Amino acid sequence: LPVTELTIEQAQAEIETLRQQVTQWGTEYYQNDQPTVEDFVYDQAYQRLLALEAQFPVLQSQDSPTQQVGALGETVLTKVPHEQPMLSMGDVFSTEELFAFNDRLQKNGLDQPEYNLELKIDGLAISLVYENGQLVQGSTRGNGQIGEDITKNVRMIKSVPTQLPEPLSIEVRGECYMPKQAFVKLNQQRESDGLPVFANPRNAAAGSLRQLDAKITGRRELSTFIYYVPDYETLGVTTQSAALARLKDLGFQINEHYQVVQTAEQIQAYIDQYTAQRNDLEYGIDGIVEKVNDLGMQVELGNTVKVPRWEIAYKFPPEEAATIVRDIEWTV
Ligand code: NAD
Repeated sequence: LPVTELTIEQAQAEIETLRQQVTQWGTEYYQNDQPTVEDFVYDQAYQRLLALEAQFPVLQSQDSPTQQVGALGETVLTKVPHEQPMLSMGDVFSTEELFAFNDRLQKNGLDQPEYNLELKIDGLAISLVYENGQLVQGSTRGNGQIGEDITKNVRMIKSVPTQLPEPLSIEVRGECYMPKQAFVKLNQQRESDGLPVFANPRNAAAGSLRQLDAKITGRRELSTFIYYVPDYETLGVTTQSAALARLKDLGFQINEHYQVVQTAEQIQAYIDQYTAQRNDLEYGIDGIVEKVNDLGMQVELGNTVKVPRWEIAYKFPPEEAATIVRDIEWTV
C-alpha cells in the first residue's frame, strides 16, 4: 500500500518490523562483514522506512536506523572517537530525484551551482590522521562518532603514505577497497582452503582491513582512494576539485574520474558514461556522488544528524536488473 493510504496503526506496525529488519541487516553488513541480502533489498526496505517516517512524523524516533550511521558493536579492535563525525550519505535512485535534490539546493540559496561528480567506490570509509606529516592514526567509520583503530592495518596498504612531503597536521578521509581481480583470487583461495567466501569486494575489503593481526591485512590486496578533508583550510583550497588535486600532490591516491559540471545535461552524460563503463573498471562502484564544489558553501549547507546536505549519491540499478534490461534490449 502507498504510505498515504495507511492508518497510523498500520504504519506503526510496519515501521517496527522494518526497523528491526534494517537494523539486523546493518549488523550483518557493517559489523560482521557478512550481508545476507543484496544491497537493493536493503535499500528498498530503508527507503520504505524513510517514506513512512516522513508521512507519520509522530512515529519518528532517534533509535531508528534512519537516524544512525553504520553500526558499531563488539569488536576485537580498539575503539577510537572521531574528532568530527563520519557521516553517511543520502541517496537517490533516478535522475529525476537527483535533479529535484539540486532544485532544493538552489532554493536554499545555492546560486550558480557547480558540482564535482565522482565515482561512488564500493568499499568502506577510512580516516587517516597525520601529525607533522607523519601518519599517526587510521580508523574505520564505525557508528560515525566512534570507529575502530586500524592504524597498523592501514600501514600495510601501499597507497597509504606514512609520511607526507610537507609537515602537515591533517585528517583525510576516503575509501578502502579491494580490486575485483584480488577479490576473485582471494575467494578462490578461501574456497580451496575450505573457508567461507566473501559476498562481494566491499565485504572482503572490510573483513581484510578489520583484522587484529595486521599481517593478515598485509597479505590481502587492498587499495584506497582519498576524497575528503574535514579541515580543508589546512590544505589551502576552496573547492572539492582543487582538494583532490592537492591530495594527489601530497602523495595520496585519488580517483581520477572526477568532473566539475554545471548543467543537468553534463550530469546526465556523466551518469550515462559510468553506467556503461562500470564493469570495465578494476574496482567496484555502486553509483556516482554529486558534491557541491565550493567548500565554503558545503560548510554553510551543513549536515543532518546522518548525512551532509551538500552531497548525494545516485545509486545504479542493481546489476541483475541492469542485465535483464540489457537482455530485453537484445531480444527486442
Ligand atoms: P553509503 O555507503 O551508501 O554512502 C556513504 C559512503 O559512501 C561513505 O561513507 C563513503 O564511505 C562512501 N563513498 C564512496 N565513494 C565516495 C566518494 N567519492 N565520496 C564520498 N563518499 C564516498 O552509505 P552507508 O550508510 O555507508 O551504507 C548504506 C548502504 O550500504 C546501503 O545503501 C546499502 O547499499 C549498503 N548496505 C547493505 C546492507 C545489506 O545487507 N546488503 C546492509 C547495510 C548497508
